[in-house]
Amino acid sequence: SNDRVLNFSAGPSTLPLSVLEEVQRDLINYKGTGVSVLEMSHRSKPYDAIIRDAEATLRRVLNVPSNYAVVFLQGGGTGEFAASYLNLFASKSVRAKQAKLGRALSCDYVVTGSWSKAGMKEVQRLGGHVNTVIDGVDGKYVGVLPVSQWKLGKPEETAFVYYCDNETVNGVECRPETVVDAVDPSVPVICDMSSNMMSRPIDIKRFGAIVAGAQKNMGPAGVTIAIVRDDLLERDDDPAVLHNLPSVLDWQYYNKGGSMPHTPPCFTIYVCGLVFKWVEKLGLDKVEQLREERAKIVYDVIDSHPEFFKGPVNKQYRSCMNLVFNLPTKELEAQFVAEAAQQNMIQLKGHRSVGGIRVSLYNAMTIEGAQAVAQFMQSFYDQHR
Ligand code: PMP
Repeated sequence: SNDRVLNFSAGPSTLPLSVLEEVQRDLINYKGTGVSVLEMSHRSKPYDAIIRDAEATLRRVLNVPSNYAVVFLQGGGTGEFAASYLNLFASKSVRAKQAKLGRALSCDYVVTGSWSKAGMKEVQRLGGHVNTVIDGVDGKYVGVLPVSQWKLGKPEETAFVYYCDNETVNGVECRPETVVDAVDPSVPVICDMSSNMMSRPIDIKRFGAIVAGAQKNMGPAGVTIAIVRDDLLERDDDPAVLHNLPSVLDWQYYNKGGSMPHTPPCFTIYVCGLVFKWVEKLGLDKVEQLREERAKIVYDVIDSHPEFFKGPVNKQYRSCMNLVFNLPTKELEAQFVAEAAQQNMIQLKGHRSVGGIRVSLYNAMTIEGAQAVAQFMQSFYDQHR
């Protein structure tokens, strides 16, 4: 493991070394079963124990109330853009509200960055009506407009309110309370937590559904997690309800099938289960404390040289997971990324759509890792200011 580098990738991203070592130990012969989890039937007893244990651990770690389903899905965060909309419009309560209104309900999108925008566009693609509650701050993804400036739809005309708790590309992180406090309690809030789930405790009962790809804080790529309030899974008897809802996007189909109505991404779920255990052992409060600590180490360097490290995001909404900034020139940015790589710090380039630098500090990044990149930034500044 000495030849491992510091991996600041935005996802798939660094995993806890102890988890990788456990996977390695059990890779060829999983706990005396004589087979690898890679080869195991999802209908076998040992696999059933793996997936049930993963779900139970996630429920304990996130303190998931008993009236919420937890399902492991496929299709990534992107699949959930469509699934959120399609499942809500198949639910009994949304259909009843729509019948009462006599026309299509709209979907409220709180757009704070490119992923919530992508979620909104997917609904438009599927023919849904969207209402843009906000679109960044004057079109720029640098924070969240005050709630007094939001254009929320009327509760009786709105199917759900959707937002993204952490915008991975833009480095904007919301506070769940900001949204759930602003929304009428009769309207379910749907949240994309792909890049900050399991980095801090959340009050799940304030949400209709939370969806997240695993590949940042929770495990390798290949599985998506949805936590859905029971009542949103209730359906009318009318079979037409399901006409626009393919089984692979149907939360109820997965819930009834114990997250494996068809072949699940077995190995990914197994590794996620180990990561959940790792988080549980640390404790979610400690995980939150560490995430703030790591981010502060890097933001302190940014804040001491704001004319050199230009962070676009309003301080109140700066992400602890994805720290974005620009350097005075594109040439310096390229040099920064290249020199960091020479010092075994990789994946510091900003997302291709926005450029600049992005330092992703997920749960498995150590404090020492954050200190190393902060020291590198300081010495880069000293050389080039
Ligand atoms: N939402 C967020 C917040 C993301 O960061 C990503 C991917 N980085 C997605 C959605 C899309 O997820 P996927 O690539 O798994 O489809």
